[in-house]
Amino acid sequence: MIGDRTVTVFTDEVMLGHHPEVDLPFLPSRVEKRVRTILQELDFKWSYPEHPGRLSAIMELLRQEPIQGVQFKAGPHATYEQLGRVHTATHLDHIFSLEGKRAWLDRDTTAVSPDSIKAATSAAGNAIAAVEAVVKGECQSAFALVRPPGHHAEPVRARGFCLFNNVAVAAAHAQARLGCERILIVDWDAHHGNGTQDIFWADPDVLFFDIHCAAPFYPGSGGLEDVGAGLGEGYTVNVPVPEDAGDIAFEKAFREILIPAAEHFEPDLVLVSAGFDPHRNDMALNLTYDGFAVLTRIVQDIADRHCDGKLALVLEGGYNLTSLSRGVHTVLEVLAGGDVPELVECGLNAVMEAAAFHRDAFTDEEG
Ligand SMILES: [Zn+2]
Repeated sequence: MIGDRTVTVFTDEVMLGHHPEVDLPFLPSRVEKRVRTILQELDFKWSYPEHPGRLSAIMELLRQEPIQGVQFKAGPHATYEQLGRVHTATHLDHIFSLEGKRAWLDRDTTAVSPDSIKAATSAAGNAIAAVEAVVKGECQSAFALVRPPGHHAEPVRARGFCLFNNVAVAAAHAQARLGCERILIVDWDAHHGNGTQDIFWADPDVLFFDIHCAAPFYPGSGGLEDVGAGLGEGYTVNVPVPEDAGDIAFEKAFREILIPAAEHFEPDLVLVSAGFDPHRNDMALNLTYDGFAVLTRIVQDIADRHCDGKLALVLEGGYNLTSLSRGVHTVLEVLAGGDVPELVECGLNAVMEAAAFHRDAFTDEEG
């Protein structure tokens, strides 16, 4: 029942200060194909899609529809030392040198405004705070609602709206300071978490499982045969899926690949790079809210089975404000102990109802 479990949301308004203003049009993938022709006739400019309204929309829905068992906290900013566990000094010095400025970091997707660096250290810091809270037993699970997102950020560079790799910084902190030895990171964002993969590519103590829309969808990495290297060989698990994959496919991947992998790995902490862009209303893929609920329950069960439920989620993408905010709300309800539905193919329930409705229409029998 909702309220049976304690959940802490870590977030901070400092992260609203990141708002690059972009004159150049940016049209993300599938949306691009669909609307570019329509928009050509109109004088329409896209603003930076990873904007402060994403967090505001989530917080507004949580205010309108509060969830029993969920409390809110703000974590401190990440320090240079904490960030330096996964990023090079060159990268960090470059990012910190941009404080107070506007700049492009990546030709197509990543830019900063004067307060972006504060937002980015807050995002990584709140991811760390979420991990600390679950490892220290202050709450059963935690969700760091942060931006800029992190999973595209590589050791040496910012990429794909991401400045620092929040989930990786949190995982490295758990290893370095909290006594965690084996960390499972599950990435269900629509895009491949190339940065997280790079950071833990040769690390056998972090199992990285990533289901994503297959290349050439951005960033184009995450092939089936990319499984890590050296001691880390076998500890990167990629599940590239076609653009129309939905709830049933995701559930099958989680049950038939993730659960056995976790069984083998026996994590002592479970982290999730939780993106909401695989929702059917967003950039790619066809998840519904029920799908997010089931995926959440599966990772929660994995955490319950292997590590006393220690589970922390970190927000990644999600650009449709309705499905982003409702998706986060759905996930938090499950974390708080809510029930999850059984998944069926989209539309199947409606067809079954229609079949029952029409059942007697074409028979000769009366009544
Ligand atoms: Zn994404």
